[in-house]
Amino acid sequence: MNVVDLRSDTVTRPTAAMRAAMLDAEVGDDVYGEDPTVNALQQRLATDLGFEDALFVPSGTQGNLLALMSHCERGDEYLVGADAHTYKFEGGGAAVLGSIQPQPIVQAEDGTLPLEHVAAAIKPVDPHFARTRLLALENTWHGRALPLDYLQAAQDFARGHRLALHLDGARLYNAAVAGGVSARAIAQHFDSVSICLSKGLGAPVGSVLVGSAPLIEKARRWRKVAGGGWRQAGMLAAAGLHALDHHVARLADDHRRAAYLAGCLREVAGVSLLGQHTNMVFVDVPADRLQALDAHLRGAGIRISIGYLPTLRLVTHLDVDDAGIERVTQAFRSFFARG
Ligand SMILES: *Cc1c(COP(=O)(O)O)cnc(C)c1O
Repeated sequence: MNVVDLRSDTVTRPTAAMRAAMLDAEVGDDVYGEDPTVNALQQRLATDLGFEDALFVPSGTQGNLLALMSHCERGDEYLVGADAHTYKFEGGGAAVLGSIQPQPIVQAEDGTLPLEHVAAAIKPVDPHFARTRLLALENTWHGRALPLDYLQAAQDFARGHRLALHLDGARLYNAAVAGGVSARAIAQHFDSVSICLSKGLGAPVGSVLVGSAPLIEKARRWRKVAGGGWRQAGMLAAAGLHALDHHVARLADDHRRAAYLAGCLREVAGVSLLGQHTNMVFVDVPADRLQALDAHLRGAGIRISIGYLPTLRLVTHLDVDDAGIERVTQAFRSFFARG
């Protein structure tokens, strides 16, 4: 029985067609800039998203780190959501490796950073303070696509305060597909965007940072410093190109399945639906039943991630089909029917 793994959209495995594209990739030494497939991927995303240049990196964490280190100098500060991946889930890399001070801002429920709170956190120009340089947003945030009018307001705000604007767009394409807009319509508001190919897009490895030519030149240097200069990475870039060609429009299927799953779970007594956004469903279950639920689901060939909270995040992706979703809804129903 194939396992229905709802822990994250990072668990996808490359399809047969993607593996074939990887096998066929033309490669070269990317530290010399000579891998044609890496170059094609970088060119493709820079053009698609409306930027001068792009850099293929091993992970979203590294893409964000290189962006922060390229926008900011030692002793600078960046403003970031208190629950943002960049701030909270990347080991404090900006501070640890970049000597960049984070200033967390509590996100509103929709993932936006209220601009009046951001304004209040900007430091005066004075030797007492770090130099506030950058505002970083995340889209999607907990599955939510940030409103386009907010992105415009954030861009105007950043320009007005001479701040650079970075987007952690790990799931940029989920936001675009959900909003019925191009990824470029979202990306255009930012000075740099980091995109994950290894989440819902289904590539095994890789993220891409897009930005201006001078920014990407700095990022390329920091990538080397961070040990991320890679050689015949074209085999991985081929997976990314394949994902961009074949796995973007189908994100709508993941969103549809998540909405369907949410609708089913809403009807299950014992489960409270907290929300569903793009490919993520959030539910609460009684904390004292979490372990038993996990065991029950495992028995049915379903993996979920249980933390110390009763809130579950269920994530749909390329490797979850309609039959898999049916299995999940049945398993929840049968577990909670036992009372
Ligand atoms: C996954 C993710 C990243 C980066 O993840 P890596 O595992 O380092 O590739 C960054 N931001 C968000 C919002 C993510 O979900």
